[in-house]
Formats: sequence, structure tokens, C-alpha cells
Amino acid sequence: MHDPAMHDPVLRDPVLHDTVELIRAKRDGWPLTEAQIRWLIDAYLRGEVADEQMSALLMAIYFRGLDQAELRAWTAAMVDSGEHLDLSAAGRPTVDKHSTGGVGDKVSLILAPLVASCGAAVPQLSGRGLGHTGGTLDKLESIPGWRAALPPAEMLAVLRETGCVICAAGPGLAPADRRLYALRDVTGTVESIPLIASSIMSKKIAEGTAALVLDVKVGSGAFMRDVADARLLAQTMVTLGEEHGVRTSALLTSMDTPLGRCVGNALEVEEAVATLAGDGPPDLVEVVLALAAEMLRLAGIDADPVAALADGRALATYRAMIAAQGGDPDAPLPHAAAGRLVPAPESGWLGRLDARAVGVAAWRLGAGRARKEDPVSAVAGVRCLVKPGERVSRGQPVLELLADDEARFERALEALAGGIEIVPDRPLAAGSLVIERPICDNG
Ligand code: URA
Repeated sequence: MHDPAMHDPVLRDPVLHDTVELIRAKRDGWPLTEAQIRWLIDAYLRGEVADEQMSALLMAIYFRGLDQAELRAWTAAMVDSGEHLDLSAAGRPTVDKHSTGGVGDKVSLILAPLVASCGAAVPQLSGRGLGHTGGTLDKLESIPGWRAALPPAEMLAVLRETGCVICAAGPGLAPADRRLYALRDVTGTVESIPLIASSIMSKKIAEGTAALVLDVKVGSGAFMRDVADARLLAQTMVTLGEEHGVRTSALLTSMDTPLGRCVGNALEVEEAVATLAGDGPPDLVEVVLALAAEMLRLAGIDADPVAALADGRALATYRAMIAAQGGDPDAPLPHAAAGRLVPAPESGWLGRLDARAVGVAAWRLGAGRARKEDPVSAVAGVRCLVKPGERVSRGQPVLELLADDEARFERALEALAGGIEIVPDRPLAAGSLVIERPICDNG
């Protein structure tokens, strides 16, 4: 008969280092100890635990979850697998932001210089985009000369000089996450709240920021489609941050329609610069200001981000940051060789412009990548000429598709099928994009 105690590693051996027994224990619902988790992750990086064994363990975690103590240990082991950055040389309170990813989400490009211009140091160590949501580094790489890869000393110098830096997380930062994320990607184990939370937070904890605001996106274009899942992910990450000494809070923000009017790398840089110059779309400005206020609160800085956006300080900081990383903020951005307008099929009001449909269209136009080694096009993307709640006449262009190559348009148009809805009556005015704020451990 099956005796669960036979597989309880805590009962049998508190520091059991037998991979198969540990997989069985997790499979059967027993919690692993901190020592066992540390051993598993270290042994995986040393090559003593094979990919197929770690895959089985990840699948067991996908089904069984991790309790709070396991999650803390799992995250700490990933942090300790690499270097811990020391940002004390920044000379100002450090605060970062992480977004779970959305369509048209160019918030970081505006937020980092805005919050820096209010007196904080913003160290944004970012990844590249995968799938239908773009990556901040891919967007900035459309600026001629701009460099994402900075050695740690240069990263710190840019941070000290300009108050912000947006660069690639180096290979020494949470290397266990790099290996595990690649494995999760090919084993159907990405969509697990404890694995997502530990993956995101291990990199932010290792980065050394003192405070962190999470923008957890909810809706059709987001990783999390429903509010309950997004809330659980946010709470899990906030708790992990606080347990590791990072002051952390989260906002849940809506991602049912693209943020702003532009989706695509150079297009989003253009819109971010317009926003920094005081001419941003209201939805984007709302999200930026809500996150800026929260970052400044956590950093203990009493400053007005609205004024910093209006009086040009944020734009000046952006220009300094781009120049410090080799970019020319005055260089013209590249433009697409081919364009195609998507007309409204009837007259009325735009009731819905689906974020996922537009994100997938932009991706198929070349703005995103399917595998992490794929190149991206700087110029491809979608301009939303009409936003939900605005009037349209039959035949009026709703979207403009842009690409390097005409051949991309057909598949992009297929992605948009069902994503544009025209309604006869004026829709109710859209509410705030901030669904909940902020979720803190202490309420
Ligand atoms: N982003 C990460 O860094 N990790 C995940 O697991 C999911 C999204």
C-alpha cells in the first residue's frame, strides 16, 4: 500500500540529497526543506541534477505549488546563485519598477527618467521581449548608437551621473533563473504563480534596489487575464520582496486595450518622447503618474511628478540617460518601408480594440520574437488611429500597420479578426486604468 510517510523527506532524512526522492516527495505533495531546495538548485547548476529531473520537479511544483517557506527558500537560492549588486554608490534612494508586460507598454522609458528627475536613483535591469509583449531593451535599441549591455561599473556610473539606467541584466545576475526559465519555456511550466513570482523577484532582489513597485497587468493583452490571479501574483511578489528586505508594493492595471496609440519598438520610443515632452496620451500618462507616485512614496521622496513631466526635467533626464549609454537622442528614428491602413467596417463608436489581437499583429509584423535568439524589427508595429470610446465612420482608418515588408500584412490582418468592435451607441467613458492600488503586506 502507498505510504506517504515513505516519501516524506523531512521524516526520512532532513537533508536528503537524492534527486529522485525529492521529485517524488514534491509530486506527492510534501514540502521540501530549505536545505533540500538549496541543494537542488545548486546541484542543477553544477550539472548533478539533469534537465529531465529538473523538468519533472518543475511540473510537480506547477501542480503542487510551493508554500511560503519553500518559496522564500527557492527565491533565495536563485538570488544566491549569482552576484548581488551593491547600489550604494548611486548616492540617492534606489527604487525600481517591474511590469509583467503589456501591449504598447512603454512606461519604463518615461518612468525611469521621471522618477530620477524627482531625486531617486532608478536601476532598471531589464530583459528582452518574448511573445506578443515587447521588451524595453528592444524599444531602446531602435535609437541609433544606444547600448543595452553595460558592464557593472559603467551601469553604476550612468546611474550616478543621470539618476537612471535601463540596461540588460548581466549573466551574473540570478543565473539559476536564466537556466530554469529556459527549461520552463519548453516544458509547459511557465504559468505557475510561485515560479513566476520567484523568477521575477530573484532578479530584482539580486539587482540591489531598496524599493520596488510592481505593475501587474490584467486583461486580454496581459500574462494574467483575470483579477484574482493577478492579485495573487502581486501579493506573492510583494511578500517575497519584503521577506528579502526590499520595500515592495504593487498596482494592478488594466491591459484590455493597447496602452497609448503606438505598439512597436521605434513607434513606442517616439510616443515615450512625446509624453516626456508633455504631449502624451491620457491613458499612458495616467499609468505613468500612478506608478511614479508610488515609487516616490516607497523611496521616501516628497516631489511632484506632474511638475517634473510638465517642466521638461524628466525629458532632460531621459536625454542624458540615452546619451550616457551611447545613444543620440536627436537622431531620427527609423521608419517603415511599408504601411497598410485598416478601415472601420461600419460607422459608430469604437467599442473594443483588443490588446492581444493588436499585440499579436505587431509581433507578426516583426516587432516581437518567437524565440529568444530571433531578431526584431525596429520599425514594425501598429499605430492605433482610433481608441475605444472614439467615433468612427465607415472606411475611416482605425489602425495603421507598419513593416519592413508587404508580405507581413496578411498574417497580421488575420490576428486582428474579431479584435476591432464597432458599436452603434457611445460607450460609457472608460474608468481608471488602475484597478487596485497598492497591495502591501501590511494592508
Ligand atoms: N518574467 C520573468 O522574468 N519570469 C517569469 O517567470 C515570467 C515572466
